[in-house]
Amino acid sequence: MAMITFPKDPEKNCFALIGRNLVLKENGDNLTFQDLLELKEREDAGDFFSEPDNHLCALELTEGNTLPSKYKTDTVRHFFATHPEEESYLLARSRALLSWRKDMVYCSCCGTRLEESTDSTSRFCPSCKKIIFPRIEPCVIVLVNRGEEILLARHLQRNQDVYACIAGFMEVGETAEHAVRREILEETGISVKNIHYRGSQSWPFPDQLMLAFTAEYESGEINVQKEELIEAGWFDRNNCPATPQPGSIAYRLIHGLI
Ligand SMILES: [Zn+2]
Repeated sequence: MAMITFPKDPEKNCFALIGRNLVLKENGDNLTFQDLLELKEREDAGDFFSEPDNHLCALELTEGNTLPSKYKTDTVRHFFATHPEEESYLLARSRALLSWRKDMVYCSCCGTRLEESTDSTSRFCPSCKKIIFPRIEPCVIVLVNRGEEILLARHLQRNQDVYACIAGFMEVGETAEHAVRREILEETGISVKNIHYRGSQSWPFPDQLMLAFTAEYESGEINVQKEELIEAGWFDRNNCPATPQPGSIAYRLIHGLI
């Protein structure tokens, strides 16, 4: 267990997470360090870490327990939609690191229990000396334009009620641009050209780095991959159906903000 260090600004950057949800004060304010210490004593408290350089403390709580009435929970996604990028970054980091720490307990080479590194965000094997850094999974997310229309789809595996951009994990050995062409073609049957990078966002569910692109329609008719998409279609960019929430890079792509 990491030593507890009091953050420089105890009113900020203290996160308690329950799965995809975040614990807040009942009035919606962020937790203080004192709140975190109180929650840390509960039976459902799990892993805890602090990063003095980031003024960051994070605690994991087990799902399915009742919190004291002075707290409530909200989704991490809603926090991203309503807070400054700097705070969202630290929450994303908290969630991703708690998830990584849970998964990365033993050395994958020799099975020895890993220890905390003191000079970097990593764990190391005291037996074979392997160093393990947090994993980041690169994904591409693409808005395809055809004149005044944009290509949106409803996905089978996530948020079925919204129309979103095409997205997918990069394959080993690919460039990001190759992944853009492949994902669009595989999932919709559409070929694209003029691929441009627009920005990125960490998306800690659990460890993606979303690389956002725009591309232009080149050829093909929509033919959805049934294992991935419920439907896909061309929509007027000024009259879109329900799209992802603010705070996501998909929202910024669709609404022309990046
Ligand atoms: Zn080892």
